[in-house]
Order: sequence, then structure tokens, then C-alpha cells
Amino acid sequence: MTVREGGCLCGAVRYKVEGEPLMSGACYCRDCQYVAGGAEAVGAGYLADALTVTKGETRQFVIKGESGADVTRHFCPDCGVHLFAHNSTHPQFLSIKIGTLDDPSGFTSQGNIWTSSAQPWHHIDPNLPAWEKEPDFGAA
Ligand SMILES: [Zn+2]
Repeated sequence: MTVREGGCLCGAVRYKVEGEPLMSGACYCRDCQYVAGGAEAVGAGYLADALTVTKGETRQFVIKGESGADVTRHFCPDCGVHLFAHNSTHPQFLSIKIGTLDDPSGFTSQGNIWTSSAQPWHHIDPNLPAWEKEPDFGAA
């Protein structure tokens, strides 16, 4: 099974994640713009069980997302880098910020969400599926 490792900028938090992501893509919601420094946030979605924090621990910040769900954002208490997020609607999934992988080069985006919140200067790939808000993943 594929195992990928990653961590925050200062190295206080390290993790490994097993298997392939269930989905990956970019989120243009306003909250992600804060976290990503202005750009969209790119993430890979896994079952929460696939992730193991191997060093340190994250701090967590909970905010009500535009969808109405409680979004829990996990970040390094020392350097502040955001590593993971999950929301209360789908607690069995979590999203890993691609930039925190030791090797982010294998990322392939499958689509863009919350494009209705994108800024005029964001470059949204017209060849990928896009959702103005959140896609309906049904009961999954
Ligand atoms: Zn750190």
C-alpha cells in the first residue's frame, strides 16, 4: 500500500497517510483563501482512518463554514501551517493540504469547489469540473 509522509513547515508535526486519495481538488471558499494566503487551497481527501500523526500534535480551530457545517482546521501550534481539515457533515473524511506532503508533485486536481467565492484574479482550469458551492456527495 502506498504510504506518503508529510508535515508542517517547522517539522514539529509529522504524519503519514496510507493508500490513494478518494478525491482531490481545489477549494475557492473564502475561508480557504485565508488559510492558503490568498490562493485556493488544494487538498486530497482520505478516509480519516488513513491518517496517522507520527510526531507532535496539531491544534484545532473550528469555524462554521459557508455550507453551515462545522469545519475543523488542524494546524501546527508552532509554525501555524494548516495540515488537515474535516467537517461535521462528513466526519469520516479528512482533507490533507497537498503542500504539506514531502512530495506534492503527484497531485492531480479532479475539480474545483466553491468557485462562486473565487476572486477575479484566480485562474480556474476550465477543463475541470467546477461547483459554485459544495458538490453533493450524497450519503457517502
Ligand atoms: Zn510547525
